[in-house]
Amino acid sequence: MTDVLILGGGPAGTVLARRLTALGHGVTLVTCARRPAVEGLSLRAVEGLRRAGCAEAVAAAGRPASRRVDWNGQRTALNGEHLADRSSVDAALLRDAEAGGAVLSRGTVAAVEQGKDGWLAVDAAGAVLGSGRFLVEARGRRAPNAPAREAGPRTLAAGRAYHGPAGEVGSAALSFADGWVWLAALPDGRRLVQLVIDGADSPARADLTAWHEAAVASLPEAAGWVACCTPTGEAEVRDATAIRRPPGVAADRLRIGDAAFSVDPLSGHGVYAAVAWAFAAAAAVNTLAADPTALPAVERFVEDRCTELFAHAADAGNRFYRAEERWRGRPFWRRRAAWPPAPLPPAERGIRRRAVVVNDRIEERPVLVTPALPRGVLAIDGVELWPLLESVEAGPGRGGELAERCSRQLGQPPERVAVALAWLANNGFLPGGATRSGQ
Ligand SMILES: Cc1cc2nc3c(=O)[nH]c(=O)nc-3n(C[C@H](O)[C@H](O)[C@H](O)COP(=O)(O)OP(=O)(O)OC[C@H]3O[C@@H](n4cnc5c(N)ncnc54)[C@H](O)[C@@H]3O)c2cc1C
Repeated sequence: MTDVLILGGGPAGTVLARRLTALGHGVTLVTCARRPAVEGLSLRAVEGLRRAGCAEAVAAAGRPASRRVDWNGQRTALNGEHLADRSSVDAALLRDAEAGGAVLSRGTVAAVEQGKDGWLAVDAAGAVLGSGRFLVEARGRRAPNAPAREAGPRTLAAGRAYHGPAGEVGSAALSFADGWVWLAALPDGRRLVQLVIDGADSPARADLTAWHEAAVASLPEAAGWVACCTPTGEAEVRDATAIRRPPGVAADRLRIGDAAFSVDPLSGHGVYAAVAWAFAAAAAVNTLAADPTALPAVERFVEDRCTELFAHAADAGNRFYRAEERWRGRPFWRRRAAWPPAPLPPAERGIRRRAVVVNDRIEERPVLVTPALPRGVLAIDGVELWPLLESVEAGPGRGGELAERCSRQLGQPPERVAVALAWLANNGFLPGGATRSGQ
């Protein structure tokens, strides 16, 4: 039995596996092959994979390709995205997890059993696929459902793959009266047309390919994208509804990635959120392994982080939906422009006690919050801000003299203290500007 049993080897499960093995935990990762898919990974998502040390996955994601958006009658070129064959990227992620020291077990988990020492994952024949004292559910949208806390309008993505001339690479997102379409062209000639529609407009499964064909024919850009191409299979549908579930954190378990919350593909944040969440989850598991009594702080941290990542992605999607004004009266656009009902209120500037990550452990500390930095800032250039503020208020001084005095008091190099003091001044926390409130 290893320390941690992770179910699901997508971006969330593998990044968590790498982070935990780097912290010295024994990890078993149980996973089965995912359905083939092409997705656009944001630059931030790939940067997250790089930070986690997933060199194989970063290489498999390739170079960013150009991205075009035709929205509300306007054409714009946005930041590029990495056009990823998810089967290749996920296979590379598993190699990265193994290279980091995780024990990889391939199989489909049919049930999870709790024994006296920990958790067992078993397949349909009852064979044990892996075991661990701490259980992480990372099976994405296929994880056994926990009740939804929040859900956006039911959304479906109907995609079909084609093959055409190699060489042209790029992607485009286009809006139309009853949805939007994502077009992708991979260097090897593969192309994808993915139509995103309201759940209420779902065609019968038997009619899906014919429906997709007719929809593509009615959209000149989509038809042009695959004009010289041949379909390589039938159209397939995936649920793409934004859903937030409880992260289910307890002293010996946690849900991460899409198993905890999945975002609307229009936000472009799916893999990024899964990776960001895995980093946060590593601190949560690491903390609970060392000190189970830290559970209340870990719970607060996990809840805040989940709520914030989900709200951020929902807001990004909503801004796109509201920007399309030509079909405001159509059900697809009306429902999405009205969701989420309210964005997170802006944070008020002040000092708050928050659960934060310090040296890979979650601790409650005073942090300085600003509207632009709602999670709060613990330290600048390695200098913790709250003790610095106390040191400032404990005596007189300005400029270099103040930095010298505080640096002596805190045992920190004066140059670093000067940088942190400049941050305090620029953000209105030094006397003369607004200072302490609401700790
Ligand atoms: C239609 C659609 C389009 C999307 N497009 C984009 C996009 O362009 N860009 C983007 O960033 N995000 C996109 N996303 C979101 C992205 O796919 C997810 O957010 C991301 O993959 C979540 O990572 P994860 O590790 O949590 O889950 P997953 O990537 O789903 O990984 C879960 C893993 O668990 C495995 N598994 C499942 N069940 C079992 C089982 N019983 N036993 C063992 N293993 C199991 C799966 O095979 C898989 O390997 C899209 C989502 C949808 C639905």
